[in-house]
Amino acid sequence: MNLTSPIFQDADKAREHLEALRWPQGPICPHCGVVDDATGLKGKAHRPGLYQCNACREQFTVTVKTVFEKSKIPLNKWLLATFLMSSSKKGISAHQIGRTLGVTYKTAWFMCHRIREAMTETNPGALGGEGKTVEADTTYVGGKEANKHKSKRNSKNIGGMGKQIVHTLVERNGRARSHHIANITGATLRPLVFTNVHRSSNLMTDTAGGYMRLGKEFARHEMVDHGRDEYVRGDAHSNTVEGYFSVLKRGVYGTFHHVSAAHLGRYLAEFDFRYSNRSALGVNDAMRTDEALRMIGGKRLTYRRTNEGAHA
Ligand SMILES: [Zn+2]
Repeated sequence: MNLTSPIFQDADKAREHLEALRWPQGPICPHCGVVDDATGLKGKAHRPGLYQCNACREQFTVTVKTVFEKSKIPLNKWLLATFLMSSSKKGISAHQIGRTLGVTYKTAWFMCHRIREAMTETNPGALGGEGKTVEADTTYVGGKEANKHKSKRNSKNIGGMGKQIVHTLVERNGRARSHHIANITGATLRPLVFTNVHRSSNLMTDTAGGYMRLGKEFARHEMVDHGRDEYVRGDAHSNTVEGYFSVLKRGVYGTFHHVSAAHLGRYLAEFDFRYSNRSALGVNDAMRTDEALRMIGGKRLTYRRTNEGAHA
């Protein structure tokens, strides 16, 4: 799979690719859930890829009840946008997607948000486990760029968004999970960390107060004191999550100049998705794209949330 792949040029090829990914055992009726008991409706009277379920008699295509549903954008462009977002390490702007696909900025912006919705994990299991290590840390994005090495004159304000706090959990050699949080108190961190990390894990954090008490409930908890310039003590460090933050920040400050606080969570889902399906784990661009395409279904579609439903 690369930019010249037929699935990015031809809507029928794109549909067949999506059908093969989503329906490896034959068409699945999105209305009643029955597998491989549908009749393909052929002929000019029907749009291509239309099926009728033999069980409930409802009609459907591969995009019904997915984030691509009810769109006038040809499916090959949806797949190309998914490929571009899945294969760009620091993300790709809606302006760039618009130019590449030949659609308006508004349409591209809307498509990007739909694809971010696909990339969002719906029922994520806990990270870590026995013998595994999870790093937890927070960072700020937005507002004045937090960079000691830049003069105030060069710092820039990101899209009018004030400073926002991002909390990220990274399993070493595994997945990442990020949240946009309101503050760094124990009351905020506790449910977040307990829901998303197995207690049998080793937990690595800095010395932020919120981590101290909750850390006692994990198999092992190590803290490094960044305030005293301590960054690594044996295997106790947060270098992995720091690496995640550096990619996130290059994306937020370099690619997306207008990340609003209201949408920050969606961008985090995009960065988490790429990190959790990264090449170091053996996932190449094509596999990552197909994984995003497998995730287009089963999302609650709330069109109003983007206020852009009418544009695509
Ligand atoms: Zn059915």
